[in-house]
Amino acid sequence: MPGTLVFLEHHDGEIVKNALGVLSKAADLGGDVSGVLAGSGVRDLAAQAGEHGASRVYVADDAKLEAPLPQPRVDVLAPLVESKGFDTVLFGQSVLAADLAAGLAARLDAGLNWDLTDIALEGARLVGKRPALADSVLVDVGWKSTPRLGLFRTGSFEPVAAGGSAEVEDIAVELREHSLGAVMLEQAHEERSGPSIEDADVIVAGGRGLGKPEGFGMLEDLAKALGGAVGATRAVVDAGWYPYPSQVGQTGKTVSPKLYVACGISGAIQHKVGMQASGTIVAINKDANAPIFEFCDLGVVGDVNEIVPKLTELVRARKG
Ligand SMILES: Cc1cc2nc3c(=O)[nH]c(=O)nc-3n(C[C@H](O)[C@H](O)[C@H](O)COP(=O)(O)OP(=O)(O)OC[C@H]3O[C@@H](n4cnc5c(N)ncnc54)[C@H](O)[C@@H]3O)c2cc1C
Repeated sequence: MPGTLVFLEHHDGEIVKNALGVLSKAADLGGDVSGVLAGSGVRDLAAQAGEHGASRVYVADDAKLEAPLPQPRVDVLAPLVESKGFDTVLFGQSVLAADLAAGLAARLDAGLNWDLTDIALEGARLVGKRPALADSVLVDVGWKSTPRLGLFRTGSFEPVAAGGSAEVEDIAVELREHSLGAVMLEQAHEERSGPSIEDADVIVAGGRGLGKPEGFGMLEDLAKALGGAVGATRAVVDAGWYPYPSQVGQTGKTVSPKLYVACGISGAIQHKVGMQASGTIVAINKDANAPIFEFCDLGVVGDVNEIVPKLTELVRARKG
């Protein structure tokens, strides 16, 4: 029976949040939803996929799949999709997933819609939602044939652990010679304390209103007190005040924390599209007419340099 297959990207012994979010969304749409794990020593991760809506998890477990390289994974997914007749294959955006989805599209001569932020069943038709024109409009996109491949922006969906369990099926790993042509020489991880902005429940984000790069110090203090991460606008990233992985927005990351505290951020559309799905948005800006006050939940008109340190003190005092 045709169904949906979700690529379960994993790092450091865990399925990434983005892939679990896509899996939860696929399960929410209904129908038969499976996941595929490709790696070395990854079988135990199948249980996590079952909790998030997969009824079956295909496991390709092989030492040759240890490095997170796309081409060997094309060799795993292509025959799986063909032999089981999956009509939809979904991915959460990442460097690996984007390369894999493109390789799979080429191998299967399939249509790939990328940069999706949502998907819906309209009657019997599957319709992808994709921001366009500098994210100012959402367009419906479809597929002319199956399998339909879809790649979703980071943070499009929250993972939902509904508590199910998945049947596990091991699949053979037969890699083509050219797929082994690339080898991973080294993997480096950014040194970081606290959660990443993709995973954080709280994000304290800063913009040009901080006045100078050092202003991020007080945001880091507040983020630490709240157990959150620091985000930034493109204006300050371009100015070299804060590193690019923290950029939120159209050309940065899409995030959906429970709480987003925007400090000295005007609220340009290109920033808004990356954080508008946040649970509660608090804005601190000295200009009462700043656009961010049109879509925040709580607006504070004032100077970030005065308000943020006091807020940090209050949070610390409350936490004892
Ligand atoms: C194709 C394209 C893609 C883009 N992608 C992104 C993206 O991914 N992410 C992104 O963020 N932007 C993006 N931008 C840029 C975007 O248009 C804005 O220029 C940017 O978001 C503005 O950043 P900002 O809010 O830090 O700065 P500003 O717009 O300069 O706003 C600074 C704000 O700080 C306030 N302020 C000043 N001093 C204080 C103070 N002491 N206390 C409190 N408030 C103060 C001001 O009133 C002002 O509202 C993109 C633009 C384009 C054209």
